[in-house]
Amino acid sequence: MNESYHMKTQNIIGNEEWCAFGELNIPAIKARIDSGAKTSSIQATNIKRVVRNGESWVDFEVNPVQDNRSVSVFCSAKIVDTRIIKSSSGTTQKRFVIKTPVTLGDRTFDIELTLANRDSMEYRMLLGREAMQERFLVDPSKHFVMGDYDQEAFGQFYRHLYREKTGLQIGLLATNRNLYSNKRLMEAAQARGHEIQFLNIQHCYMRLDAQTPEVRYRGGNILDELDAVIPRIRPSMTFYGCALLRQFDSIGTYCLNTAASISQSRDKLFSSQLFSKNGIQIPVTGFAKSPLETKDLIDMVGGSPLIIKLLESTQGKGVVSAETNKAAESVINAFKSLQANILVQEFIKEADGKDIRCFVVDGKVVASIMRQAPKGEFRSNIHQGGTAHKVRITAEERRLAIKATKILNLDVAGVDIIRSNKGPLLLEVNSSPGLEGIENATGKDIANTIIMAIEKKLKFQAIDHSS
Ligand code: ADP
Repeated sequence: MNESYHMKTQNIIGNEEWCAFGELNIPAIKARIDSGAKTSSIQATNIKRVVRNGESWVDFEVNPVQDNRSVSVFCSAKIVDTRIIKSSSGTTQKRFVIKTPVTLGDRTFDIELTLANRDSMEYRMLLGREAMQERFLVDPSKHFVMGDYDQEAFGQFYRHLYREKTGLQIGLLATNRNLYSNKRLMEAAQARGHEIQFLNIQHCYMRLDAQTPEVRYRGGNILDELDAVIPRIRPSMTFYGCALLRQFDSIGTYCLNTAASISQSRDKLFSSQLFSKNGIQIPVTGFAKSPLETKDLIDMVGGSPLIIKLLESTQGKGVVSAETNKAAESVINAFKSLQANILVQEFIKEADGKDIRCFVVDGKVVASIMRQAPKGEFRSNIHQGGTAHKVRITAEERRLAIKATKILNLDVAGVDIIRSNKGPLLLEVNSSPGLEGIENATGKDIANTIIMAIEKKLKFQAIDHSS
């Protein structure tokens, strides 16, 4: 065969071409021409083997629009083979093979396709050597030689499959979807007509560059259509969770609590410094690194009884009290020898094991409870044995809670206040406050309030379908 023979009978194709599958109801899908692959493949999800009239068939879905998972075409085809496919990374995968007519330009022919569930495939289809043989020559410098569609024309093909968007698209960025707070936020968003997606922090990853920063989710889905993200980042995830939030912020997604506000609220020392600088009453607090000044550290905060807190503590686990100066000294020195960062604080005895949790949303206290430690215990926020009930807070406490939230620039916060002889004192501000205790004690639908705050921020108004 000479070259002119090829030129006459074989079409030139570029490195990307549009393919159509008449029998699969796919009028257009972008294919990468991949002479490195023998068999062609199409990316499929929900792949299920079924038996029809004694034959093996396969049901699957194809998302023909790149980067869009919400448009999916249901397909069904007879299985002609199963093949072990070795990927470039060396892993093997068993795949079903189907045979179906494909159209490229004005040529239609049967093609064997493997169903790939490798979600990270950049193209939804790869056209391999088998399909090209005796038909096409590849000119890798060209694209869409067999015809091209613009965005608009391509969009028309699948218009009927796009769901009408009536609510907001929200992401819940957390770790465990079964936690009470997360479940409540999901159901509250859905009840208000929004679409909410649970995003496991550990399954998100990022692309950084000057033009198109991205957040992607397991499976390669690009999260570029979210209107808002609700962060529920557990303390051990602060570093990565906040990095993701900054990325969402840079692509224009509204974050309910910013990365900066979360990380500063998690730093007990830093937030205490911000409070004292802004005239917010807190228990007298000392902080030191060197073991030499322990005695003066104790004197400085007024002597015993006092409280010693590990800076990394949560849920009161790293908080101890010392009745005498001697006891305080040994505890402080013990912590220091472990290189732990600690705070030393005056003990508010008159609080009598109680503290107040104010739930603040969008600059308002929407609920408050008083928590009482079990008998003989001073830590009121521990989970075992403590009780909580609804409480009426004073105007001063309300102002304190709101001001603390503003200083940290949090949209949602749980503000812990302790009642002292000197008036209310701020203990700490939690940027991912739990909903269970406070909803149960007050009977309020706080999840709904949070979703409404997002609507307000985004100036969202529900479309009234009844009129
Ligand atoms: P964590 O950050 O680990 O939750 P907190 O600082 O909230 O620790 O303290 C846990 C609990 O200990 C509080 O809810 C409060 O009941 C009690 N507590 C904390 N600091 C003091 C203090 N200075 N005086 C009296 N009780 C305190």
